[in-house]
Amino acid sequence: MGTKKITRRQAITAASAGTIGTFVNWSFPSLTFGSKMQEKLAINGGNKVHNGTWPEWPVWDQSAEKDIVDMLRSGRWWRGNGEHVVDFENKYAELMGVKRCLATASGTTALITSLKALGVDAGDEVIVSPFTFIASYNVIFMNKALPVFADTDPETFLIDPSTIESRITERTAAILPVHIYGLPADMDSINAIAQKHQLKVVEDACQAWLAEYKGKKAGTLGDAGCFSFQNSKNLPAGEGGAIISNNEELMDKCHSLHNCGRPYGSIKRTSGYPISGSNFRMQQIQGLILMSQMNRIIKDADIRLTNALYLDAKLKEIPGIVPYKLANGATRSAYHLYPFRYLSEKFNNVPRDKFVRALNAEGIPCGSGYGPQNKDGLIEDTLNSRGYKRLFSEARLKKWRDENILPGNDKLCREAVIFSQNILLGSASDMEDIVRAITKIYENRETL
Ligand SMILES: *Cc1c(COP(=O)(O)O)cnc(C)c1O
Repeated sequence: MGTKKITRRQAITAASAGTIGTFVNWSFPSLTFGSKMQEKLAINGGNKVHNGTWPEWPVWDQSAEKDIVDMLRSGRWWRGNGEHVVDFENKYAELMGVKRCLATASGTTALITSLKALGVDAGDEVIVSPFTFIASYNVIFMNKALPVFADTDPETFLIDPSTIESRITERTAAILPVHIYGLPADMDSINAIAQKHQLKVVEDACQAWLAEYKGKKAGTLGDAGCFSFQNSKNLPAGEGGAIISNNEELMDKCHSLHNCGRPYGSIKRTSGYPISGSNFRMQQIQGLILMSQMNRIIKDADIRLTNALYLDAKLKEIPGIVPYKLANGATRSAYHLYPFRYLSEKFNNVPRDKFVRALNAEGIPCGSGYGPQNKDGLIEDTLNSRGYKRLFSEARLKKWRDENILPGNDKLCREAVIFSQNILLGSASDMEDIVRAITKIYENRETL
């Protein structure tokens, strides 16, 4: 293994000769591979490292069944005539340590609503991270605004704050940082830029339940934070979302907007509906499912964290494997996915996708994350649409295209490898298998 290639005998010899540092720095003190390393890779017909299964997701809690059946039999299925959605909102606000939570139909509708409530309008611009789920910038298009991509820091997988300010124009209304994979973005730097230029900040915390930045929950650091409870998420309900904030007036406005523009709290008018809104309401059954899922979220998050810290320590010892780095100020990730970078130059130039297939063949499910979505055809289609041509000048769209060059993001899109959150709910021996499988691929890289 390059400079780390040292046998146990050499290490002990070195230690007894007085160069104790060599022994202490030995890469794999607790793993003994021996002849196993000569084993044929599973992708080449050898035995798999991991033969067992992985935890399934989501996990159903049968104790919720009576409440669900009672609610179904009552016919009170929508939030307007039951308590379950409000119960969940109160419980989630308490968990997050904020004054208010509004449940929504999805994370996407939570983002659309909060951008609109903060005043993002047709013809505005919103600065967003490109390394994200498509909804993060679709919601900007849904508000008829222009998503302007800042670059990604490949080490943190997050928006690089130093690339935001140069993209601000007189039309910029908001910044939409994404805590991707549950990794908190550098919110102090982002908030400082927002304050200087009087911009709103909406956190896309749709993958970041219980993540922390300087000990505060992700989603509580901007003007509003948005969450998703879609089936694959760490807090699942099939579909669902939430907006959280300490700003009462803003939350009143979000409530009104998500409920067809009906009056709510400070949002009043003497006759008719006070504002133009939509229907993004959560149903009672989603509230009940979420209440039951809340019983496990803290325990699950702790298991993921313990396993992730183990992987952090072990994977960084393997040449060419670079785990994510927490951004400045981030104190805890939520691990919707566990990400690392794969440097093919350390793996005999085996392409990343072949490495992913080889790891899958060893019984370790993994994927390659997001592609360079800032170059997706749907974006050009939208910019070339009749509506966008009316909203943005040719000169503005030319500048957008000139600036849509993101070397950090391109690099990360070539190098990222990810494990999904249910993998991180596995046992300690499952985690050892992950390390063993990657080590096996490294040792046998010439055969790939
Ligand atoms: C899941 C997700 C969303 C959208 O949430 P839905 O509930 O699927 O609408 C938005 N942003 C990110 C980063 C997500 O992962």
